[in-house]
Amino acid sequence: MQHTVKDVITFDGVGVHSGRKARMRICPAPANYGVWFKRVDVTEGDSMIPARFDAVCDTRLCTVLGNADGATVSTVEHVMSALSACGVDNVLIEIDGPEVPIMDGSAEHFVRGLAKTGLLSLDEERVMIRVLETVVVDGEGGARAELHPADEFEIDFEIDFQDPAIGRQHRVFKVSSDGFVDDIADCRTFGHLADVERLRAAGLGRGGSLDNAVVVDNGRVLNPGGLRHPDEFVRHKILDAIGDLALAGSPVMGRYVGVKAGHGMTNRLLRALMARPNAWRFESAETPVVPLVARDRRREYTTQVA
Ligand SMILES: [Zn+2]
Repeated sequence: MQHTVKDVITFDGVGVHSGRKARMRICPAPANYGVWFKRVDVTEGDSMIPARFDAVCDTRLCTVLGNADGATVSTVEHVMSALSACGVDNVLIEIDGPEVPIMDGSAEHFVRGLAKTGLLSLDEERVMIRVLETVVVDGEGGARAELHPADEFEIDFEIDFQDPAIGRQHRVFKVSSDGFVDDIADCRTFGHLADVERLRAAGLGRGGSLDNAVVVDNGRVLNPGGLRHPDEFVRHKILDAIGDLALAGSPVMGRYVGVKAGHGMTNRLLRALMARPNAWRFESAETPVVPLVARDRRREYTTQVA
């Protein structure tokens, strides 16, 4: 069945790029609503932004969603990952600024909030997106993202960084809420000290600190507490991939393979999948095929996929 949250869950924090304080409220929503962000500080034009792959407007530093009136919300991937892995289908996420609070750089606060408040089962069956054909997108330097048919949702991720503090890491994760809580949720975003300094010089990363990111420099982890897992880096990439794939609008049943992939490639992969009608179909446990419009109910945002 579909799920929403039992009650409003509030998160206060700062945006990692803007440095702005933000309050985010995850609110219950009815069946077939999906996930929508509402910019409560936007008074002119449309303040509603759908958490969908075709609303992604920037992926350079994080995943940014936007609507036709230019309202945006950035760094949505970690909260989307928590919602998706915990099986939350329908929520309205109110936010009073342009960026989701970074919290500790992982999805742990979001998962804790969801677990503490609890989920509500709705009287409607969940619909899945079953991958029927392999879809591949390539990037620079051997980067690759793939979706393959499979009977469960699985992430296979490999990274290869020059800095020996990260190096080459590979991990396979069968997505489940228990596994996510145990192995993935607490893994933080990361960066090189040189990149952090460059971002700062460009006026970005203003809210970033060792409290919300792992920072490495020439083989060293600069955070006083060290890592939470020896391979925290690739685990965080899995966290990101789950969040970016959640923008499909329904849970994906398939195997994702990411090699040095990032937000942009995962979004390109979803767009490539959706653009090929034979490569996927909506499916529920009982009835195999559901019309495309079924997940697009609040209004006709985009049922046409480019
Ligand atoms: Zn991330």
